[in-house]
Amino acid sequence: MSASTPLAPDWLVPPADANALAADVWPPSADRDDHGALRVGGISVLELRDTFGTPLYILDEDEVRARAGRVLGAFRTAAERHGTQARIYYAGKALLSTEVARWVTEEGLALDVCTGGELAVALAAGVDPARLGFHGNNKSVAELELAVEVGIGSIVLDSSIEIERLSAIAERRGIRQPVLLRVNSGVHAETHDFLATAHEDQKFGFTLEDAVAAVARIRELPGLQFFGLHCHIGSQIFGTAGFRESASRLLELHGVLAEGGDIPVLNLGGGFGIAYTSVDDPTPIEELADGIVDVVAAECAVRGIPLPNLAFEPGRAIVGRAGVTLYEVGTVKPVEIGEGAERVYVSVDGGMSDNARPALYGAQFSARVASRTSDAQPALVRVVGRHCESGDIVVDADYLPGDVAPGDLLAVPATGAYCFSLASNYNYVPRPPVVALRGGVARVIVRGESIEDLLARDAGLHRVPVLSERQRDEATEGAG
Ligand code: PLP
Repeated sequence: MSASTPLAPDWLVPPADANALAADVWPPSADRDDHGALRVGGISVLELRDTFGTPLYILDEDEVRARAGRVLGAFRTAAERHGTQARIYYAGKALLSTEVARWVTEEGLALDVCTGGELAVALAAGVDPARLGFHGNNKSVAELELAVEVGIGSIVLDSSIEIERLSAIAERRGIRQPVLLRVNSGVHAETHDFLATAHEDQKFGFTLEDAVAAVARIRELPGLQFFGLHCHIGSQIFGTAGFRESASRLLELHGVLAEGGDIPVLNLGGGFGIAYTSVDDPTPIEELADGIVDVVAAECAVRGIPLPNLAFEPGRAIVGRAGVTLYEVGTVKPVEIGEGAERVYVSVDGGMSDNARPALYGAQFSARVASRTSDAQPALVRVVGRHCESGDIVVDADYLPGDVAPGDLLAVPATGAYCFSLASNYNYVPRPPVVALRGGVARVIVRGESIEDLLARDAGLHRVPVLSERQRDEATEGAG
């Protein structure tokens, strides 16, 4: 294996030390013990492997709580400077369990859910429904009914059909449901195309033009109470430019709509980027908060309208860096790929079933050998999973010690967001447990699946009688 290779992407430079843990990418509590084994939250990965096995989602609870507090503090401070308030909804889609819901709400955050399933987790966690926001472009009638029944704080409306549907549901219950209207500001976030959700040609929300009529309709319906506009421009965004441009476009609309009545809230979504590799340089959350809130305040002042309360919905920025996925190396295979080039494939015991992001978006991650350090020269490798799919890549390119071998533990940092939540059972691979670390203690917060769990759903095995209603009626008639 060679130290430098033309197969390395331009941005990736050979590290001076292939054991080093890049600042900002790993949880702040990550270090190595005296024997070189990686520790997170003071606990060695060897101990975690022995207790919980691999693959394993490791989540540093202190880091989740600290990030939640820091994000809330940043936006509150920025809002207070302008005499208004900020509410932070943790975007549960990033990673949700009852424990995570409790942590973030204990830290003072509200919670954003986008399906009946996420709503059920939040309610099971005992989250006050008034602190929940409900998103989604195709919420079912049953989901809307449940949300209204439990007294959900706000529902973000996404289509004209949903406006009528929700009003009818709320009216039947004799209430006026607080709602926001999701709009596309048309701002193209500087991110992977699939992640940018404020393009005009996409399924979410209303264009700025169509929003005027939609809000007028909301205001005339008896079951709805218009609280404000909502916009989410995309994910993994660095810098304030996209958010600032989007906010100023939104405020133009907000200003027009304010002529028709008070608008208490403006929700500017989430999307704040984190570092996945050592070259990522995310904007500090305080800088983002100041930059965005300053624009909102300036736009309101220009238009002579009162500054609304502000809301934001970060997911990744809260849980992303708190997560580390632990794998065991199964094989190491140098592959001759022509013109003298050789790529080293390191296969681990998980893959796209526990981290779909590289396959879905071409997302970049990094890796380190976690069970030991090594003085071997760094070698460029591609870390791949165990699935029957050539796109089953965990880390497209990184340098590991050249003696990486079967049995080594490999850790991939920054996997707290959109890994557990996007996990699948592809190839009948059970999903790993999630283990939370706090105060030197590791505990399972979502248990791992077993093969038995997977087989339990197979109706062919259990001879579950599957009758349609028609078949059942015919059988009953026949018996009579
Ligand atoms: N809000 C909405 C409406 C979203 O669609 C998303 C992510 O897709 C988020 C918030 C959270 O985004 P992020 O985790 O990048 O902060």
